[in-house]
Amino acid sequence: METTRWSYVSGTSDVPLLGVTIGDCFDAIAARFPDNEALVVRQQGLRYTYADLKTEVDRCARGLMALGIAKGERVGIWAPNRAEWLITQLATSKIGAILVNINPAYRLHELEYALHQSGCSALVFAPQFRGADYSAMLYELLPEMRQARPGHLAAGRLPDLRTVIRLGDEPAAGMFTWSDVLAAAERVSPADLAARQAEQQFDDPINIQYTSGTTGYPKGATLSHHNILNNGYFVARLMRFTDKDRLVIPVPLYHCFGMVMGNLGCITHGATIIYPSEGFEPLAVLQAVQEERATALFGVPTMFIAELDHPEFGRFDLSSLRTGVMAGAPCPVEVMRKVHSLMNMREVEICYGMTETSPVSTQTRIGAPLEKQVGTVGQVHPHVEIKIIDPVSGKVLPRGQTGELCTRGYSVMLGYWNNEEATRKAIDAAGWMHTGDLAVMDEEGYINIVGRIKDMIIRGGENVYPREIEEFLYTHPKISDVQVIGVPDERYGEEIMAWIKLKPGETADEEEIRQFCRGQIAHFKIPRYIKFVDSFPMTVTGKVQKFRMREQSIEELNLRAAASMRTA
Ligand code: AMP
Repeated sequence: METTRWSYVSGTSDVPLLGVTIGDCFDAIAARFPDNEALVVRQQGLRYTYADLKTEVDRCARGLMALGIAKGERVGIWAPNRAEWLITQLATSKIGAILVNINPAYRLHELEYALHQSGCSALVFAPQFRGADYSAMLYELLPEMRQARPGHLAAGRLPDLRTVIRLGDEPAAGMFTWSDVLAAAERVSPADLAARQAEQQFDDPINIQYTSGTTGYPKGATLSHHNILNNGYFVARLMRFTDKDRLVIPVPLYHCFGMVMGNLGCITHGATIIYPSEGFEPLAVLQAVQEERATALFGVPTMFIAELDHPEFGRFDLSSLRTGVMAGAPCPVEVMRKVHSLMNMREVEICYGMTETSPVSTQTRIGAPLEKQVGTVGQVHPHVEIKIIDPVSGKVLPRGQTGELCTRGYSVMLGYWNNEEATRKAIDAAGWMHTGDLAVMDEEGYINIVGRIKDMIIRGGENVYPREIEEFLYTHPKISDVQVIGVPDERYGEEIMAWIKLKPGETADEEEIRQFCRGQIAHFKIPRYIKFVDSFPMTVTGKVQKFRMREQSIEELNLRAAASMRTA
């Protein structure tokens, strides 16, 4: 039957989905490749074989059980990339606790929201990162912690939160240290852990990641073992990963790019995970690739741009590289070409997807024509379906026409945590996740992402929701109205701009507005450009026309070159 006329594809595969939990999969790989290097954390000077990592993971899992963490409870993690992140990820999946990823750039306003909305009963956090003192922030949010017995917190603002665990071994009021957790493992036997692990089902929720989906305030995309284990497995499989591959992961672990495509991609193949630094540093990435003889490298486009532009780029030997992934934001074709030729990543691939779909839905393939490898986001993933629809009528469009990309299959999240209404809006009755991305599919099923209908900005791979910044700025006493847009930027893809209307008689300057944001919202959400206005461009029905604001700003800020960059 003729099916190619329509923008619909179904990803066939002769490799079945994995029907196991993350914990069982990890144990099987650790038994198969005990002496393979599993994890290298350069900034901590740590190296673990698969056998070592399993010992640490099991100890952490037993320690968390000893602290009374039950199946289904939420455990937040607020830390940059380090060994304990992966250990906590695997330990929580063994005991069936749901890991809640919290962006280390989050500040009080955002942290409180995530912990409260997910109802976390425990939080694991790093003492500091990039000059920010996380303990001080937590004492500010939870003053009761100064008097609390560790594990018995009862705080007014976060009533569900009982247990706070700080990485390291330095004691602090009201908290356990990481060492305390490992020591508590003595109270739970390996047999108890095995029994708990055996209770888990692969369709159980295991991870919550905050994202705003297509609109509005952050929502907790809730993902199962099955969702993310399989997605990591197939991403790495399409990169032809084996137990000999060594992957440098500079992308943050709080996002699925790091913890699913990176961590689970490696763990399903017995490959080596390498963290070059706590947060992204281009020099540390180049050093890690050379010194660790890495075969693969991940990054959002901004990271590859920073590595290629680094003044010392030319002195590094990157000849061990073979493959890797660029994803998370529109990928400039020219940057892809340079990654191919100058970084020796002949088999680099582009992935496209979103958190709600575990995340990857399309991937370019090794061996495809070069133009398709650098100029499209590839073809549908194994076991996944994609259709492109007219956003108004909902009907599938013919090939070659632009519409909203929808995804269906094992990879679609269970739903948004405690938010049925938003879940129903995102996933329709037939099981399709509506992505809010505009795409076009060619005759061979290659896909290009050509725009977004959702109200979202991507700055250097970080998603930013205008509404969230607008709501925050409304709390400024001098602001009467505010509209936030994304404007094109050659380095970050997009930058944040706020158009602000002040209350009658008020005056303010840009610095004053930025100062108001510091410490309350993450640095990447603080507007780079601020324009004070008397009114916004409106439709006759009173709706703000953000596209007009964008056009006008591109002219005024002289951003035409960045606006015309070609992407996959
Ligand atoms: P997140 O949920 O943080 O993974 O963000 C998902 C969104 O990032 C998608 O809905 C797209 O708008 C965008 N995105 C991810 N990968 C790509 C890509 N390869 N090209 C263009 N946009 C992308």
